[in-house]
Formats: sequence, structure tokens, C-alpha cells
Amino acid sequence: MNDKLINFMPCIFCKIINGEIPSYKVYEDENTLAFLDINPVNPGHTLVVPKKHFSNIEEADEQTLCQVIKIVKKVGAGLKNNLAAPGYNAQVNNDPSAGQIVPHLHFHVIPRLENDCLSLWPQKKYKKNQAEEVLNKIKIK
Ligand code: AMP
Ligand code: ZN
Repeated sequence: MNDKLINFMPCIFCKIINGEIPSYKVYEDENTLAFLDINPVNPGHTLVVPKKHFSNIEEADEQTLCQVIKIVKKVGAGLKNNLAAPGYNAQVNNDPSAGQIVPHLHFHVIPRLENDCLSLWPQKKYKKNQAEEVLNKIKIK
């Protein structure tokens, strides 16, 4: 789906925040909502969203990002303590090219279970001089 079409569609997470669509709420405060992902990678897979609509990390202000990450930490602790998950993945699919389907910034908090047989993405090796070249482009000065 292209970016223009995604941004035109009514935001399903805003509808959840406004109570127009039901959700299984894990946590809610004035600024942030956490609810179960309807198609979990593992049971307990939770989405943490700012209540204000931002499409991605770059759009969101720092205060909002801090508020959201604090709740990611709380949710992650709950998964570890109450689901006996030894770990979890906290992930943002930032933009459609990174797999983002719902255009409202959200963190996936995915409990990882022993032997759940999930694997992360494949990794590559740097070619000669490639690390230096890319570093020159992205180094923050
Ligand atoms: P992403 O690919 O990062 O945009 O992920 C969007 C996530 O939202 C997917 O994992 C979906 O399963 C989840 N999702 C979509 N609609 C709903 C809904 N109504 N309630 C809960 N989760 C949803
Ligand atoms: Zn939204």
C-alpha cells in the first residue's frame, strides 16, 4: 500500500483511542494507551500508542516519545513477570517501507517465550570500506 493511500484512510488506532472500536486495554493514562494486538505474534503481544496522532517517530515530539517508552517499559515488565516470558521485543515499524501498516506511531511489545521458534531478520556483512562510507553519511555531529 502506498504512503498517500495510507495517510488518507481514517486512522484505526485513533478510533480505538476514541472508543469507536473496542480493544483489550492493557494500560491507559492521559497520554498513552496500550492494548492487545489483535493478531499476536505470541499471546500478550501489546501495542503502545500515544493518544495524539503522529504517523512516525520523526513526527512525534520528545515528550510524547518519553511518555510512550515509559509505558513500553511497564508493559514489558508485566509480560516478563506475569507471563513468564524471559524476554520481549520492543519494536517500531517506522514507515511503510519498514513494514508499518497502521499510520499511527506504535510500539510492538512482543513477549518472547523459550523455544518460540521465531527468528529475527537475516544479517549481512559489510563489504570493504562500506562501514566507513555509511558512517560518514549518518554520523551525528
Ligand atoms: P504495523 O505493521 O507495525 O503497522 O502493525 C500494525 C498492527 O496493528 C498489526 O500487528 C495488527 O495486527 C494490529 N492491529 C490492526 N488492527 C487492530 C485492532 N483493531 N486491534 C488491535 N490490533 C490491531
Ligand atoms: Zn491515529
